[in-house]
Amino acid sequence: LSARYQAEIALPSQSACGAHFSLMVNSGLAIELETTDPKYTGGVGLYRTEFPFIMRSRFPTEQEQISLYRRVLESYPDKPVIMRTLDVGGDKALPYFSIVEENPFLGWRGIRLTLDHPEIFLVQIRAMLKANLALDNLHILLPMIADLAEVDESVRLIKQACFEVSDELAIEMPKPKVGVMIEVPSIMYQLPELALKVDFCSIGTNDLTQYLLAVDRNNPRVAGLYDAMHPAVLRALHQLAQQAQALQFPISVCGELAGEPSGVLLLAAMGYNSFSMNSSNLAKIKWLLRRVEMSELALLLPEVLSCQSARQVRLTTQRFLEQKQ
Ligand code: PEP
Ligand code: MG
Repeated sequence: LSARYQAEIALPSQSACGAHFSLMVNSGLAIELETTDPKYTGGVGLYRTEFPFIMRSRFPTEQEQISLYRRVLESYPDKPVIMRTLDVGGDKALPYFSIVEENPFLGWRGIRLTLDHPEIFLVQIRAMLKANLALDNLHILLPMIADLAEVDESVRLIKQACFEVSDELAIEMPKPKVGVMIEVPSIMYQLPELALKVDFCSIGTNDLTQYLLAVDRNNPRVAGLYDAMHPAVLRALHQLAQQAQALQFPISVCGELAGEPSGVLLLAAMGYNSFSMNSSNLAKIKWLLRRVEMSELALLLPEVLSCQSARQVRLTTQRFLEQKQ
């Protein structure tokens, strides 16, 4: 099966009727572990910077971070590389930075932690900016944004880092595009304001599902309740697509849902055309999208949006998928 998918990896990412999709990869471990040749991708839609932090016994220095980020940016010349600032806390712990909380997923996570420690944030942004010199494909993504003040403060610090690096190297810095992860429900209701503050947004369906359904994404006891195909999650995603389109605010999806055949079909039906996924899923997703007509997705969408359970959504989508295999 995978040979069948691989046979089309070099073909354009488009539907049978010619609608174009950008298929990007999620990354974080050593870039050479990726299974897809960068030239067959639309770039890196999510580079999780926390992995190099988790694998060390102390914070990586600015110089160490520059080398790491440069390798990633260089591997995707002329393609966007979306680097997310440190997203620890929740289930991701640093061995050398202890966080003890009763409710870690609702606690000191992602941007909350780095805004309380601007020295961590600034070193990371400076390293990204220096790694980006002469390449200019860096995009910066902010995790766990729940409030507009967090966006303002992050943008202010990014400007400060740009200023510091320009000053230190006596050069004009290329300004990276800045985006926000949509993964906390509150920010879904502030899209118009967000669109005025940043250049793009990217939906993290893993956390958005967890927070919309109030289900810990790693707790086996409630695993049966965690489903991104829950009708409420799908309605939220549909509304986000429509709002972003009306605002002309670039939006993409980088959670696991985008790398699932049934998930990507529904997202494409809602109007999304930019997806980021584990590189092992890319060939399969391209193969599938190349076999669908937007007109048949337009018929599938209302049927799915009227379902009352994730199970019913999956059955409906499965029926559609079976005709494509
Ligand atoms: C997400 O929450 O969907 C996401 C892409 O981020 P992570 O899985 O790293 O939390
Ligand atoms: Mg997340």
